[in-house]
Amino acid sequence: MAADATGNIIKNFGRNVVFQPQVYFQPRSEEEVLELLDRYRDRRIRVIGRLHAWSDAPRGDDVVIDLRNMHSVRVKGSGENAQAVVEAGCQIKHLLKELSRQGGYTMPSLGLITEQAIAGAASTGTHGSGKHSLAHYLQSLRVAGYDSQSGEAVIRTIDSGPELLAARCALGSLGIATSVTIPVRSQYNVEEHFERYDDLDTVLAAEEEYPLQQFFLVPWSWCFYAQHRREIDQGYSRSRLLYRLYWLLGMDVSLHVAVRLLVRWLPRLFTKLFYRKILPALVPRRWKVVDRSDRQLTMEHEMFRHIEIELFVTRTQLPAALDYVAWLSKHLGGDDATPGEAIEQRLTEAGYWDTLQKLKGSYLHHYPICIRRVLPDDTLISMACGGEEPWYAISLISYADPRRRETFFNFAKIVAETGALLFDARPHWGKYCPLKREQLRRLYPCYDEFCQLRQQADPQGRFQNQWTEQLFGDDPPDA
Ligand SMILES: Cc1cc2nc3c(=O)[nH]c(=O)nc-3n(C[C@H](O)[C@H](O)[C@H](O)COP(=O)(O)OP(=O)(O)OC[C@H]3O[C@@H](n4cnc5c(N)ncnc54)[C@H](O)[C@@H]3O)c2cc1C
Repeated sequence: MAADATGNIIKNFGRNVVFQPQVYFQPRSEEEVLELLDRYRDRRIRVIGRLHAWSDAPRGDDVVIDLRNMHSVRVKGSGENAQAVVEAGCQIKHLLKELSRQGGYTMPSLGLITEQAIAGAASTGTHGSGKHSLAHYLQSLRVAGYDSQSGEAVIRTIDSGPELLAARCALGSLGIATSVTIPVRSQYNVEEHFERYDDLDTVLAAEEEYPLQQFFLVPWSWCFYAQHRREIDQGYSRSRLLYRLYWLLGMDVSLHVAVRLLVRWLPRLFTKLFYRKILPALVPRRWKVVDRSDRQLTMEHEMFRHIEIELFVTRTQLPAALDYVAWLSKHLGGDDATPGEAIEQRLTEAGYWDTLQKLKGSYLHHYPICIRRVLPDDTLISMACGGEEPWYAISLISYADPRRRETFFNFAKIVAETGALLFDARPHWGKYCPLKREQLRRLYPCYDEFCQLRQQADPQGRFQNQWTEQLFGDDPPDA
C-alpha cells in the first residue's frame, strides 16, 4: 500500500510556500491512486510534483498525493512517429536518460532545469526557448477523478477536443494525471555562442539564424547578451568539456556566489559596478561550441535558492515592455528616469503613479533579465496560448535571503499589475503570480471555457486548493 507520511511539513524550492497537509501519500500505481480517491472522496485533494513552483499551485492543506514513485517511461513506435508514455511523477532528468536509453530519443522542448516532474512541469506551462511550452506537446493524459454518475474514482483518457487543451495545463485542478503521452524526437546537437548587443532589433533579427536562442537584458548596463543557439548537424566540439567546466564553475557557481554577495552583503553601488565592469569580462564571446541538446539547453539553476516572476508578452509588445521593465528597475533602484508621457498618463489614470513614487529607491534589481521566445501553444490557459505571434517570457529573479524578500514582492506585484495593464502581460502560473482572477481572466480569451471544463470535471472542487478555487472556482473566495 502507498506510504503515509502524515504530519510532514512541506516546503517548496523557493521556501515561500510552506504547508502541512492532514495526510500525505506516495502511491505506486494507478490502482493505489484510485484507492486513495475513494478513501478521501469527501476531502480536498492536491497532487504535487517536485515542488519547484513558486506560486501556490502545489499547496495542499488536506490530502496531498505525491507521485514520485510513479516514474516509468515506455517508448512506442519509432522514427518520426515515436512517442513516450510517461508516468506523471517521472522527473524530467530521469525521462531524458530513459529516452536516450530506449532508442536515442529526447524531448521536444526543455526548460532551464530538469528537476521537475513531467506532469508538474506541464501543469504550469513550463517552457524553454524557441519551441512551444511542454504542455502543448501532450498528446494524451490519463487522469484520475470521479465518475459524474456513480461518484466512484475512475481513470479517464483525455486525448482530443477542448478537454485535452484544458488538461494540458490545468494546475492540478482537473484531477490527477497519472501518465502522459508525448512525441519524442531523435537526439540532436546544438551550437551555442554569446554575443553582446546594444539594441533589441539586432538581437531579434538573429532569431532567424538562431531559432533556439535566448537573451539577457543586463541591469545597470542595459545592454543585451544573446545566447545564440541553433540545432546543427555537426559532431561535438573538441572544447565542449572545457565549455561545460566553464559553465559549471563560471556561471552556475561563481556568478551566483557573486550575485548572492551583492544582494545580501555588499553596498548597492557594487551591484551596478559588477554589471557594468565585471560581468562583460566573464562572458566569453564568439566561442562556438557544439554539444548534445540537453546539455546545451539546461543549467544547474537550482543550485542556489531564489525566487522568480516571469511575464509573457507578444512579439509586438516586447520592445515597449522591455523599455518599461528597464525604467521600473531604474526607478525602483533610485535613478531619475521617466517612462515616457503616455505610460505615465496611463499609470496615473489607473492609480499606480503615486504608489510608484513611494517605491522609488526601494528595490535594486540584481540579476540578468532572461528573455525567451515561446511559440503559441494549443492549450486553454498556458501563458503562451493563443494568437499567431510568438510570446516572449521576461524573467525577473531575486537571490535575496528568503526572509528578506519583501522589496522583491513589492516589485513583482507592481510589475505584474502594471505589466498586465500596459502590455497584457501574463504571469507564469508556476512562478510568483500575484494577479487576481479578474485581472487574469482579461488576459486569456479561453479562461471562461477552462473554468467550465474544470467545473464539469470536478463539480465539487475536490481537486482545488484555495488559490485555484479563487482563480477557477464557481464561487471563488476572496484571496
Ligand atoms: C530553479 C528553477 C528553474 C525553473 N526553470 C523553469 C524554466 O526554465 N521554464 C519554466 O517555464 N519554468 C521553470 N521553473 C518553474 C517550474 O518549471 C514550474 O513551477 C513547474 O510547475 C514545477 O514542476 P514540479 O514538478 O516541481 O511541480 P509542483 O511545483 O510540485 O506543482 C506544480 C503544479 O503541478 C500540478 N501537478 C503536479 N503533478 C500533477 C499531476 N500528476 N497531475 C496534475 N497536476 C499535477 C500541481 O498540482 C501544481 O498545481 C523553474 C523553477 C525552478 C525552481
